[in-house]
Amino acid sequence: MLDLPTTLVKTLQHLFSENDFLMDPADRWVYGYDNSRRHSMPSAVVFIRAHEQLVELVKLANHYRIPLTAHGRGTATTGATVPIAAGIVVSFEKMNRILDFSPADRFIIVEAGISNQQLQETIHPENLFWAPDPSSAAFSSIGGNLACNAGGPRAIKYGTCRENTLGLRLVTGSGDSFHTGARTTKSVVGYDFTRLIIGSQGTLAFITEATLKLLPLPEAEATLHATFSSIETATDAIIQILQQPHTPSALEFMDHTALTLIRRYAPELLQNPHAQALLLIEFDGTENTIEHAIDYLKRACHGRGLLEITLAKTNEQRKHLWKARKALSPLLRHLGNQKINEDIVVPVSHLPLFIKRAELLAQKHKLTIVNFGHAGNGNIHVNLLFDSNEDEIARAQTCLKEIFDLVIELKGSLSGEHGIGLDKLPFIENEIESPALKLISQIKTCFDPHGILNPGK
Ligand SMILES: Cc1cc2nc3c(=O)[nH]c(=O)nc-3n(C[C@H](O)[C@H](O)[C@H](O)COP(=O)(O)OP(=O)(O)OC[C@H]3O[C@@H](n4cnc5c(N)ncnc54)[C@H](O)[C@@H]3O)c2cc1C
Repeated sequence: MLDLPTTLVKTLQHLFSENDFLMDPADRWVYGYDNSRRHSMPSAVVFIRAHEQLVELVKLANHYRIPLTAHGRGTATTGATVPIAAGIVVSFEKMNRILDFSPADRFIIVEAGISNQQLQETIHPENLFWAPDPSSAAFSSIGGNLACNAGGPRAIKYGTCRENTLGLRLVTGSGDSFHTGARTTKSVVGYDFTRLIIGSQGTLAFITEATLKLLPLPEAEATLHATFSSIETATDAIIQILQQPHTPSALEFMDHTALTLIRRYAPELLQNPHAQALLLIEFDGTENTIEHAIDYLKRACHGRGLLEITLAKTNEQRKHLWKARKALSPLLRHLGNQKINEDIVVPVSHLPLFIKRAELLAQKHKLTIVNFGHAGNGNIHVNLLFDSNEDEIARAQTCLKEIFDLVIELKGSLSGEHGIGLDKLPFIENEIESPALKLISQIKTCFDPHGILNPGK
């Protein structure tokens, strides 16, 4: 662990209150984690309360060359939030105010530490919502959502953070501070720093404030389960559904291994004993458009190995249909005490081939692979399950490498929403060509000349 110079500690004790500057090992320990199970002890933790305070901190850290790692709520799954070079963890959890809200202009300006759910609860009474809906919304911060370009089931219709953010307020690694973007949905003045910073996982700048684009809440929603006799027929139906004029607001997929798990451990959530694949489909809009959408959906699925379609009529029934999808992650532990959970993406038309070849890789390496996720975006959570003995770990690592090779062969992307972090660093050259990697490194130097922001990522 890196020791902070005494003079720096004294200055920080002056800049932050006692409760906002933690040096006790027991307090610091929990800020060494994210959801990747990796851990690295930071030298100190500070809670930022104001933009100007952060500017001062970054200038000091530059002077002493001390690493700074931004921390929203630590739910990242890739090690992105783990302070591997020690230094200071900069937590935004106490910087969570609403700064401006204009329902008429459909934007809200928030500080980075507010949670996704707190934001939604503020804007719902005005019949508005912010589209990005990661499953971690109840807890994860807007700053973390933006730094990871998070998305959820709704991304198929409404996009991810990049499509739903108008502007940011930043502090770069050299302590410069500026606004990006505008309060309007159109603006082409200068380079698009907003989209560059979104997804950069705290390596280029701290996000202190964000201007978010809001959308009107739909008048009505419908949720449906469709079960199929084979994976091939289900993936074929996905392509047909996306060709009809109503874009679903969610199109989630579960493969036969996922359904076997549900049958064994939560049988009440799955009625049809013959189902080999399941689609969870949602539409939103007005009552009229939804009726049309369901008609189109039935036509798109009909005669393609469709076993049955169940339509939820009440909120309770909707929640029941989602339960099967939400139950999956915790159920995976029954298949092995170790899990590699990737979030690859392939063009939707390649989904059938991807699923088939991933199954062959599972057989070849004698592993269980469970596939489920946001099929409408071609974004599949590929879960490799195994036990923690040397042989199985080695087979899982080889299989993972071959899965990534397959993704690139199918013109996909290694990560749809979790990002690179530490876990996928060894594979980044598979996807990004060397001239682009060189530019990435130059951009990093422009924003963070001494490399103090989230080093090693
Ligand atoms: C149960 C569970 C479900 C999940 N479901 C989804 C999902 O459906 N979709 C999805 O996309 N992700 C999902 N995730 C991953 C994770 O929740 C998201 O990436 C989330 O956006 C991280 O937010 P956070 O506040 O926890 O960020 P953190 O984990 O604290 O930080 C994540 C990254 O952002 C950087 N960062 C944080 N705040 C700032 C800031 N203010 N300025 C600059 N950089 C910053 C950090 O340094 C780090 O690199 C899930 C995770 C869990 C545990």
